[in-house]
Amino acid sequence: MFEPTVVDDPSLSRPTYAEIDLGILTANYRAVEQAVGKARMLPVLKANAYGHGLVHVARHLETLGAAGLAVAFLEEGALLRRAGIRCPILVMGGIDGSQIPQFLRYDLTITASSVHKLREVNQAAEALGVVARVHLKVDTGMGRIGMRPETAPAMFEAGLQAKHVEVDGVYSHFATADRKDPEQTRLQLDVFRSCVSFYRSRGIPTPKLHIANSGAILQHSDSYLDLVRPGLLLFGLYPSEEVRRTIDVMPVLSWKSRVVFFKVQPAGYPVGYGAAWAPHEDTRIVTVPAGYGDGYFHSLSDRGAVLIGGRRRPIVGGVCMDQFMVDIGPGGEAYNGDEVVLIGSQGDASISAADVARWASTIPYEVLTNINTRVARRYVGPGTTS
Ligand SMILES: *Cc1c(COP(=O)(O)O)cnc(C)c1O
Repeated sequence: MFEPTVVDDPSLSRPTYAEIDLGILTANYRAVEQAVGKARMLPVLKANAYGHGLVHVARHLETLGAAGLAVAFLEEGALLRRAGIRCPILVMGGIDGSQIPQFLRYDLTITASSVHKLREVNQAAEALGVVARVHLKVDTGMGRIGMRPETAPAMFEAGLQAKHVEVDGVYSHFATADRKDPEQTRLQLDVFRSCVSFYRSRGIPTPKLHIANSGAILQHSDSYLDLVRPGLLLFGLYPSEEVRRTIDVMPVLSWKSRVVFFKVQPAGYPVGYGAAWAPHEDTRIVTVPAGYGDGYFHSLSDRGAVLIGGRRRPIVGGVCMDQFMVDIGPGGEAYNGDEVVLIGSQGDASISAADVARWASTIPYEVLTNINTRVARRYVGPGTTS
């Protein structure tokens, strides 16, 4: 399978692509599903499914039996509906009041974070003659969207009053679940539990509760509740260096290219913009057709590495918009067309998104979501064709 980006014909695409292994995605999904026991899966697919391709990943996870899918924005939810995804889709981001009819038209579950928003949703649903499905958001310590715990009961109350709204869930988000120190996570969970005791104390059935992201799934089994919201973990990466790796997952995405130019470079002859790097001895340099215009960081200039011929080789000179150069050493051998791995493995060597993140002083989330639409996605593994 081939998801077109800039061109709709793979033969027109330069040999740089992200390979997404749906078999590994399945294995990661099952590993998380098994670990969370009775809790159901609500995979998070924001930002083009963490760079893995929103529609393909959503279709695959729907067939694996996910209870629903979560995205950040209306446009992501609408794209999934247009692609034929039928399971519940929760939009987690804050909403613009003027867009509420669109949420309803696309049958998306709305996150309501205030009494005011809830009333707006109720009115829009009444006008359209539908019932809006809503999850209420409580801010237990992330300081982003959500009602503060003191005022959450007023929102729960408003949810009971709103006749054109079905409050299907109540949720919150952890700020430090991937850190070694469990203190704030425990506190947030306690606050969340005492907040939602509102329903029990009224003798009303409690909506579906969820709070666990990847970090909490790995470290806080008491936070699983009714649904869990794994993102990064499903794609085979751990949310931090310090998090306990209690579930085994493997990276789903590899980023590959091919050598397009080989040259012998004399000592002292500079490479790249600014002519800031030059070899101390005669060496061999290859050029790779990928750059920061694809979302490969400029900050990897003179810092990053790729795999060629089963070995890690350093990037030299600046990463350009569309190309970068690699020093394969005085005795290095490479031919035009040889595979270059930016992320992934080759022989016994490998480079993870976490390695790239460290070199670029960022987090693995950004490495993956930064791979932009100029890079074709290829899907391999069970359930794909060609
Ligand atoms: C991104 C996000 C998640 C998933 O986070 P991971 O660390 O990738 O598991 C879960 N919930 C919310 C509200 C999010 O924004």
